[in-house]
Amino acid sequence: MSSDRSPENWKARAASLSLPQQAYIGGRFVDAAEGALFESRNPANGQLNTKVAACSAEDVNRAVLAARQAFAAKTWAGRKPQYRRAMLLKLADAMEAAKDELALLETLDVGKPIRFAQDDVKGAIATFRYYAEAVDKVYGEIGPTGDQDLSLILREPLGVVAAIVPWNFPLLMAAWKVAPALAMGNAVILKPAEQSPLSALKLAELVAQVGLPDGIFNVLPGFGETVGKPLALHMDINALAFTGSTEVGKLILQYAGQSNMKRVSLECGGKSPHILMADCPDLDAAINSAATAIFYNQGEVCTAGSRLFVQESLREAALEKLQAATRYWQPGDPLLPDTTFGSLVDETQMQRVLGYIEQGQREQASLLTGGRRVLEETGGFYVEPTVFDRVSQQATLAREEIFGPVLSVIGFEDINEALHLANDSIYGLAAGVWTSDLSTAMRMARGLEAGLIWVNGWDADNITVPFGGYKQSGIGRDRSLHALEKYSEMKSVWMRL
Ligand code: ADP
Repeated sequence: MSSDRSPENWKARAASLSLPQQAYIGGRFVDAAEGALFESRNPANGQLNTKVAACSAEDVNRAVLAARQAFAAKTWAGRKPQYRRAMLLKLADAMEAAKDELALLETLDVGKPIRFAQDDVKGAIATFRYYAEAVDKVYGEIGPTGDQDLSLILREPLGVVAAIVPWNFPLLMAAWKVAPALAMGNAVILKPAEQSPLSALKLAELVAQVGLPDGIFNVLPGFGETVGKPLALHMDINALAFTGSTEVGKLILQYAGQSNMKRVSLECGGKSPHILMADCPDLDAAINSAATAIFYNQGEVCTAGSRLFVQESLREAALEKLQAATRYWQPGDPLLPDTTFGSLVDETQMQRVLGYIEQGQREQASLLTGGRRVLEETGGFYVEPTVFDRVSQQATLAREEIFGPVLSVIGFEDINEALHLANDSIYGLAAGVWTSDLSTAMRMARGLEAGLIWVNGWDADNITVPFGGYKQSGIGRDRSLHALEKYSEMKSVWMRL
C-alpha cells in the first residue's frame, strides 16, 4: 500500500480491505466452536464492517490446550533466545509492511482519526522491536551469598499467559502485553475487546505468516462474559494481564482467587489531575497540553487529564485560552487525513458520555463549551469536546471516569489544596503539574499519588519507561524491562560448594 494522504485514498482502501473474521487457535484460523458470530460496526457511520467469530468457553478450552501443548513441546521457550528474538523482529517487520492496513482496521473498528491510528501502529511495532531486542540481553543474577554457596536467581517463563485488552488502543494495548509475554518464552492467548477485534486478528495473520510455532499465539474474539471470564477462571492459565475498567479489573481479581491464583496484572481506570500553578512557565503550552490531555482519542484514554486544576489567579486567562485550544479538536470523519477528533466507540459509550454531561448540568457546573452530540446525520456517534468550569470536588464529574471528551475545571488557592484535591480520588494513574519552581515541581511529584507524573508537559511517552497506576488504577506496570517481571516466575537455586 502506498502512503498517499489524499482523503479518497484512505476511503478507497478501507472499502477494498479484506477483513479478518475467524479466531486463531493452535496455528489455525477457525470458526467459533458454536459457530456464533458478532458484528464489528464502524462507529463513524454505524455501518457493518464484518461479522467475527464469537468465541465461548469451549474455544477458551481449545486455545488453552493448544497453548499448553505448544509450551510443553518447548517449541518456543525451549529454543535459543536468538531464535525468539529473530522471530519477534520478523513479526515487527511484517507489521511494518502491513502498517496502513492495521491503522485502517483500528479506525474502522473504533472511529479514531487515521493519523493517530498510524501513530498507534508505530507504537505497537516499536514495542515488539523493544522486547525482541530484550530477549537475548536480559541476564539472571547471582546472589552475594559468600563463597560457601552459589545462589542463582533465575527468571523462567510462566507457561500460558492470557491478555484481555480494551478498545481504545486495541493493537497498542495488545502489544504492551503480548510482546513481553512472548519475549519471556510464554504461550499467549489474546482476547481483544468486542468493540475492536480486527487488528488483533490481523496480528494473528502476521504471526502465521512469519511462522511462530503453532499454539504460541492465539486470538479469541468475543465478549467479556463469554470469553474474558472463562479465561480468568481457567485452571490452566498461569497469568492474566488486563487493561480495562476498574469494575472488571476487580472481577478479574475475584476470578483469579476463585480458580488457580493466576498472576494478575491490571491497568484500569483514571481520573488524572492536571495542575496549573500560577508560576506556570508557558500558559499557552500548558493550555494546549491540557486540551490534548482530554481531547486526544476523544478522551477515551485511561490517562486522560480529565480534571484541570487552575490556581485562582490564572483562572480567567486560562479559561479564555482553553476555549481557543478546544477549537483544534473538531469532530470529523476519521478517515480524512487531517481529522483530529473522531467518533466515540459506539452508541453505548456515546449515551454514557451524554449522560455525564447532563449530570454535570444537574450538578450546576458551568458549561463553558461543547456538550452536544454532533454529526448525527452521518450515523456516527460524535460528541463535541466539552469543558465544564466550577466543578465541585464532590460532583460526579470530578469523581467518576467518563472515558470521553469531558473536562472538569476546578480552582485552588495553594499547593496544599491542589495536592489534597488531586489526591482525593480512588484512582492514581497519571498526574501533571506546570510550574517554574523546582521545589514546587518536586513537592508535587513526590506528593501526587499516581504512577506517572508529568512536569511541564503531558503524555511524554516512551517504551523504555514503566506505565501503570497507584490505588484503583491498577496493579503492576506495562512497558520497560520491568514488564518482563510480570511474565516470568523467579526461581532461587542454592548450590553448596
Ligand atoms: P470498557 O468499560 O472500557 O469497555 P471493560 O473493562 O468493560 O472496559 O472491557 C475491557 C476488556 O475486558 C474487554 O476485552 C472486555 O470484553 C473484557 N471484559 C468485560 N467484562 C469482563 C468479565 N466479566 N470478565 C473478563 N473480561 C471482561
